[in-house]
Amino acid sequence: MREILHIQGGQCGNQIGSKFWEVICDEHGVDPTGRYKGDGTSDNQLERINVYYNEASGGRYVPRAVLMDLEPGTMDSIRSGPYGQIFRPDNFVFGQSGAGNNWAKGHYTEGAELIDAVLDVVRKEAENCDCLQGFQVCHSLGGGTGSGMGTLLISKIREEYPDRMMMTFSVFPSPKVSDTVVEPYNATLSVHQLVENADECMVLDNEALYDICFRTLKLSTPSFGDLNHLISATMSGVTCCLRFPGQLNSDLRKLAVNLIPFPRLHFFMVGFAPLTSRGSQQYISLTVPELTQQMWDSKNMMCAADPRHGRYLTASAMFRGKMSTKEVDEQMINVQNKNSSYFVEWIPNNVKSSVCDIPPMGLKMASTFVGNSTSIQEMFRRVSEQFTAMFRRKAFLHWYTGEGMDEMEFTEAESNMNDLVAEYQQYQDATAEDEGEYEEDGLEENYES
Ligand code: GDP
Repeated sequence: MREILHIQGGQCGNQIGSKFWEVICDEHGVDPTGRYKGDGTSDNQLERINVYYNEASGGRYVPRAVLMDLEPGTMDSIRSGPYGQIFRPDNFVFGQSGAGNNWAKGHYTEGAELIDAVLDVVRKEAENCDCLQGFQVCHSLGGGTGSGMGTLLISKIREEYPDRMMMTFSVFPSPKVSDTVVEPYNATLSVHQLVENADECMVLDNEALYDICFRTLKLSTPSFGDLNHLISATMSGVTCCLRFPGQLNSDLRKLAVNLIPFPRLHFFMVGFAPLTSRGSQQYISLTVPELTQQMWDSKNMMCAADPRHGRYLTASAMFRGKMSTKEVDEQMINVQNKNSSYFVEWIPNNVKSSVCDIPPMGLKMASTFVGNSTSIQEMFRRVSEQFTAMFRRKAFLHWYTGEGMDEMEFTEAESNMNDLVAEYQQYQDATAEDEGEYEEDGLEENYES
């Protein structure tokens, strides 16, 4: 078995993480006490359950999850919530100080004090695994704990488990849903870390989530609960290939191999279809062509960037439900043929698709899209502009230097993110002809020598 260890940190991380567990418990037929109560119609529910769950004595399934925070509030409400009893009590690690939306507190001071306690629990879980494939971390990048302490944990894990995969579900901040003005600082400092220490990042951009709720789902004042409904559907879709039997992207490394042509460019746009709102009667029933059309639509992307402003390096589509694989393949080819200029021609066959029998709860069919699009630079540019506007005047810096941070780290984070934007642009502009010239040069050299 190739196990995944799940970690959730901070308010947002804990909120989206616990929703994720509610959704996948439902899909695998596990009730809030950890007992299997599946309908017996599908062995698939249990076949790969060990990827995310430990089996405890008495046949209980226990999430392989570690929950951390610098204040007790969010974790208290998880514990007293509907699935509170399913988690291992020892895996709740929390402090009392809070991080005050300050990345430096999470990364260097308050968080650094708690990190060993978290690593002890992580180690215990890892030791229990038969063959750990890697980790997934849920966090926001705009606050202090998920962002600062989350990236500290990621770097510690990388040090201790350098050959395991690290996937993140990272919530990017937007002024449309923001708590504080320093979020661009926290996010940029985090991206600086994620570029180096994470293997694959699923980008969940609050700006896009807000827009989907407001424009498509017609919710006049979207709440975190509404945004998180979209996130948990997406997380369930992205992990579907890992949790159920199948061929495509069946582990974290295969997913990475298919999607990442250059190691730094591992930030993915994810899309979902059909979009539904929380509590709505989910009568929506789509055909394969409709699902395909919607899944590629910029309005269905959880990241505020328009794929038509860039090009796809790679992409994967996961369809769920009972449908014809042949029809899926035809529709996917159709999209690529009609839009060939939006796919880099120098990576042949860069779009993969798969079908998993088991649909998400309440839907007959659904599809999830994971794309490595150069247009994601739009989101990084947005955060970068907000960062630079403040940093130019050194606004709010004392909160960070007060925790012992050097201004230099801000400068480095800023240029690392700007480099990332430039790299996306470079591959967006690259053509097969550039590559051709390159090869020809090589040939000539060989010929001469
Ligand atoms: P932390 O507890 O210090 O990690 O701070 P938060 O997780 O509260 O981070 C603040 C950022 O996360 C802001 O950008 C918020 O808009 C966002 N955020 C907080 N809670 C949620 C949530 O439940 N869902 C979503 N989508 N975003 C959240």
